[in-house]
Amino acid sequence: MSFADTNMCDTLTMNISKAGYCKPTPVQKYSIPIILAGRDLMACAQTGSGKTAAFLVPVVAQMMRDGVTASGFKEQQEPECIITAPTRELINQIFLEARKFVYGTCIRPVVIYGGTQTDYSIRQIKQGCNILCATPGRLLDIIGRGKIGLHNVKYLVLDEADRMLDMGFGADMKKLVSFPGMPQKEKRQTLMFSATFPEEVQRLACEFLKTDFLFVV
Ligand code: AMP
Repeated sequence: MSFADTNMCDTLTMNISKAGYCKPTPVQKYSIPIILAGRDLMACAQTGSGKTAAFLVPVVAQMMRDGVTASGFKEQQEPECIITAPTRELINQIFLEARKFVYGTCIRPVVIYGGTQTDYSIRQIKQGCNILCATPGRLLDIIGRGKIGLHNVKYLVLDEADRMLDMGFGADMKKLVSFPGMPQKEKRQTLMFSATFPEEVQRLACEFLKTDFLFVV
């Protein structure tokens, strides 16, 4: 598979090329077609493997394919995609990568994390938010305050699931998927990435992903 084989729109293909990505890495090669086919995915992938683009590229491609119009994306406070990762550094890296891929489109990514003013996070979301990149604590805080609607979520990405559990975010992830308004797993596409696949991550995958999810190692 090459990026060109995937039938993505020209803007996205150009953004991938501008990022300097000529050839997909192995995790991208296997994950992108699965995600584009609408399937849930559990992927074992280390940092440095290209896992961020492995989920961002097909999610952005699907958002664009599903008729994103300028008006449809204006003042959107109900993200179509929520991405969560355990640390500020990682979620910020994901956000910066997302910005590269949506360049020239109306899709607006926003990043929120602890240690910054909550009001600032809320203002960012209010200005429009299609892809919300968030650390678990700040995400639940904002959801709990009723500052974002969840019913529009079509894509949920949990990155570094093993580290999330090690850092004690297991309960937060469970709260997130069972929050009132969050579409049930049958109604959303859930993608999990983890460097390791211990029993606790397997249990989480069974709980969060559809029963026919695909597994990429
Ligand atoms: P990640 O594992 O997502 O943190 O990515 C590790 C690094 O690889 C980042 O600096 C990416 O920008 C880069 N990268 C990801 N995919 C590709 C690709 N297909 N070609 C070249 N570099 C890439």
